[in-house]
Amino acid sequence: MITIQGKGVSSGVIRGKLYFYKRADTAVTNRKAEDLEAEKARFAQAQQDSIAQLTLLADKCREEAGEESAVLFETHAMFVEDEDYVACVLDTMESEGCCAEYAVEVAGNQFAEMFAAMEDAYMQARSADILDVSRRLINNLMGISDSGIASDEPVVLAADDLAPSETLQMDKSKILGFVTQGGSGNSHTAILARTMGIPAICGIGEALKQEYEGRIAYVDGETGVMILDPDEITLTNLKAKYDEQQRRKELLQSMKGQEDVTLDGKHIKVYCNIGSPEDVASVLANDGQGIGLFRSEFLYLAADYYPTEEEQFEAYKAVAAAMEGKRVIIRTLDIGADKQVAYFNMPKEENPAMGNRAIRISLTRPEVFRTQLRALYRASAFGKVAIMFPMITSVWEVEECKRACENVMKELSVEGIPYNPNTELGIMIETPASVFVAEELAKMVDFFSVGTNDLTQYTLACDRQCSDLGRFYDPHHPAVLRALKTAADAAHKAGIWIGICGELGADLSLLPTFMAMGIDELSVTPTAVLPLRQALRSTDTRSCDLSALEC
Ligand code: PEP
Ligand code: MG
Repeated sequence: MITIQGKGVSSGVIRGKLYFYKRADTAVTNRKAEDLEAEKARFAQAQQDSIAQLTLLADKCREEAGEESAVLFETHAMFVEDEDYVACVLDTMESEGCCAEYAVEVAGNQFAEMFAAMEDAYMQARSADILDVSRRLINNLMGISDSGIASDEPVVLAADDLAPSETLQMDKSKILGFVTQGGSGNSHTAILARTMGIPAICGIGEALKQEYEGRIAYVDGETGVMILDPDEITLTNLKAKYDEQQRRKELLQSMKGQEDVTLDGKHIKVYCNIGSPEDVASVLANDGQGIGLFRSEFLYLAADYYPTEEEQFEAYKAVAAAMEGKRVIIRTLDIGADKQVAYFNMPKEENPAMGNRAIRISLTRPEVFRTQLRALYRASAFGKVAIMFPMITSVWEVEECKRACENVMKELSVEGIPYNPNTELGIMIETPASVFVAEELAKMVDFFSVGTNDLTQYTLACDRQCSDLGRFYDPHHPAVLRALKTAADAAHKAGIWIGICGELGADLSLLPTFMAMGIDELSVTPTAVLPLRQALRSTDTRSCDLSALEC
């Protein structure tokens, strides 16, 4: 039996075959070809496979995103068969006696360099296309699937670490749980695992070895323990834990349909955080009373191109309609930091968490912002949609956001497209700057929602992504809690409500503190709704205090 300890970041006990994630950019080695003709046949097959994939992508794009994106994939398909490019691949194979993967890499790099050296900016930009095409051919040669999981049965997915975009693009039906060497509980991948209800352990380090591939693993996402080949006693304990979990879940069912109210009659909004329209099923199953945070950027992360206004509108409308008049707070694009999207072509940054992310991107790429706002306002005609802006630091940012909203409303009015002109606007309090100017900000919006994941990161100057900062990243730090209290006081002074949509909102040990501050809303992962309701219903706010704010 092998016992490996990591950090449990999404609870649940599961059993399954360990499978190491095959990343689409796995390095190519210069392997000698045993049989050149066979290598050429492999290359021809990879060409066929690539063209089939690109044709499918082009068709899908034409339907969903319009002609422009479709043409890109058609051009890629043409490149796969380009005479000069193919000749270069075959010549390299002949002259070096190497495998097809290596020949494709060499040819791809040569062509990319050639394009990059051209005068014309359009031709220079083709350099990225040729690299993309070559990578597709290489992946097909190496048998790497788009989802990174070439297994017929669901697996326990192991990886060094997983980016949110990778997690989103995987086929979820193939995943029983995640185990990663790096990562932290505050990363978006961990948040995604919790939202999807998939048990996960991160920060395992070197103990997670590639040689374990294919072994049966038991994963306990609560304790952070992974066990290979358990002995009889351990197996019995794991089974008991699993049964206990099921029992607890059943007991909590009695909370469904109950009000979110404290013992002394204070009503609190218990909402849910989601990342896609599919997550609404879990919100409804767990009786969430609204959506406090729809991370709209996950739509962008799951796609290979800018989601169109129509695609976004359909997604937002579906959520608004499914929630049947309950509040749905949709956060505008929060790309950047750990949420990187290739087609945004963001320059590499030394400190991406403090770089061009979230509202900064929206305000510097007005067309991207406008498209999203149009989709949001159009969806506002189909439910109780509210719009929320992330990572605000300044009053002028909110002024610009509101101006952008007004312009979009004017456009829609002229076009005769219905929308709700009273759509609520809110901001996220995630930076110390927004806390310091909270009184001014509160006069400009309808609500505040505190992003404690980032507020902790920026208040404590502590990277939320870093797995080994351990106790230095402490959302219970009095500085973080005092920032929350300052924001709550400012909100209430201006007569608006304040919620928490960061992970801390589900931390039951702080519930009395939040109640003492007068927090009005808690937005949590759907599976955390019923435990939170249960705790809330046995809390008397008259005995809650602010002692947690003391050092
Ligand atoms: C937060 O920072 O707490 C938050 C809710 O936003 P995200 O985790 O997506 O950055
Ligand atoms: Mg945040």
